[in-house]
Amino acid sequence: VWNNSLQTIKANIPNQSYRTWFEPISALKLEGNVLTVQVPSLFFYEWLEEHYVGLLRKTVKQQLGEDGRLEYNIVVDKSSNSGSPYTTKMPSAGNAAAPNPQSPAVPSAAAGKDIRNPFVIPGAKRMNVDPQLNSNYTLENYVEGDCNRLARSAGFAVAAKPGATSFNPLMIYGAVGLGKTHLAQAIGNEIKRTHPEKLVIFVSCEKFCQQFVESLKNNTINDFVNFYQAMDVIIMDDVHNFAGKEKTQDIFFHIFNHLHQSGKQIIITSDKAPKDLSGLEERLLSRFKWGLSADLQIPDLETRIAILKKKMYADGIDLPSEVVEYVAHNIDNNVRELEGAMVSLLAQSTLNKKDIDLPLAKSMLKNFIKNTSKEVSMDFIQKLVCEYFEVPVNLVNSPTRKREVVQARQISMYLSKSMTKSSLKSIGAYHGGRDHSTVIYACQTVDDLMGTDKKFKGYVNDIQKKLQMN
Ligand code: ADP
Ligand code: MG
Repeated sequence: VWNNSLQTIKANIPNQSYRTWFEPISALKLEGNVLTVQVPSLFFYEWLEEHYVGLLRKTVKQQLGEDGRLEYNIVVDKSSNSGSPYTTKMPSAGNAAAPNPQSPAVPSAAAGKDIRNPFVIPGAKRMNVDPQLNSNYTLENYVEGDCNRLARSAGFAVAAKPGATSFNPLMIYGAVGLGKTHLAQAIGNEIKRTHPEKLVIFVSCEKFCQQFVESLKNNTINDFVNFYQAMDVIIMDDVHNFAGKEKTQDIFFHIFNHLHQSGKQIIITSDKAPKDLSGLEERLLSRFKWGLSADLQIPDLETRIAILKKKMYADGIDLPSEVVEYVAHNIDNNVRELEGAMVSLLAQSTLNKKDIDLPLAKSMLKNFIKNTSKEVSMDFIQKLVCEYFEVPVNLVNSPTRKREVVQARQISMYLSKSMTKSSLKSIGAYHGGRDHSTVIYACQTVDDLMGTDKKFKGYVNDIQKKLQMN
């Protein structure tokens, strides 16, 4: 009966799915119209019921008639602390029967599998898993500031009592280079230090996705899932990378639930707040909102200086404090670039065998931050404004009073005033030899219009953005 059912199923789903989800199932017995099959884990059961319940029900009814029923025998995770594998019965959805509590021990189907498979966990209680943590990232060297206070102290709380605070999951979010990975790693290291017996795993979302695809290919999905479900703490970095990967999200959703229900700690990082994450399934997002979401902001000047000093101290470097302050003052968008600028200063000073003083730092930093500090030229402003309104540049600089030309001219003047350091006089001169009062009038007109005309304001903002991107 089961073999016939398998034929039907095989014809109805992709080969890959068949291999992954149906080949590992074996038929145990047929009693009356109840077919019992064995599945390798609770996870397998949940997955089948979620994704294939319709197909299974239809197929079983085809084979056994309208009263046909399916029951699962589940080999409970061999990673669970009970040590010896045993099985438990679960009914298929739509069947009235309640789950039967216990059935005789059946050897785990997965026992004695390929030892090259990275996810096979020894059945013993004391297993060892490399947590994939970098010991350079600690809470101590994670400098505290207003920008990260909540996230950092939540990190301490979670590290003290993993899984036992309401910060589960703990979600750390913020833009690139603001310290998400550092903090997440530091929490992992702290947990390993204070709770060495806990199984901790740090994994980037990207790596997790790759592992998932690999395990599909090698038919080791069950081991993959068992591995992660056996952890006490899972730290997943950059969950925004789940976007568009529905199957992997599905798997993680199940792992997440399993861990959360068993009081295990989940820590995730993301480049956006849960509400702004796109491409993620709603049910997964709603889980992410369960615990605490703490954001990381751009550190203020004082914190940037402290970060640089800490880093220098750790690396045994000494730089004049005026240089440190100069770097911290001028690189104010993220911590990674801040460190990058310092490393680049040091590298150049070693190469040139010159000590770093302020003038040297200034000249070297000019290259490092040239993209952010480049001032736009009036020439470029005129060109973009004219392109935007499809007005020839020479008309803007001519005496014409045609409406659309006047508008382009005034916006060009306004942007020259707000985005360059040019004087009113030189702006006027640049726009067809007009005087400074014309420029003042233009700026006022644009300002007023922006306050009253939304569409107009949209145009100006649009152009401004284009200018800033170049
Ligand atoms: P993200 O993962 O958010 O992109 P990282 O964690 O990789 O950022 O941080 C970038 C760099 O900045 C790392 O070298 C990290 O050690 C450092 N860093 C960020 N925030 C801090 C901080 N508060 N204290 C010390 N170093 C920090
Ligand atoms: Mg990171």
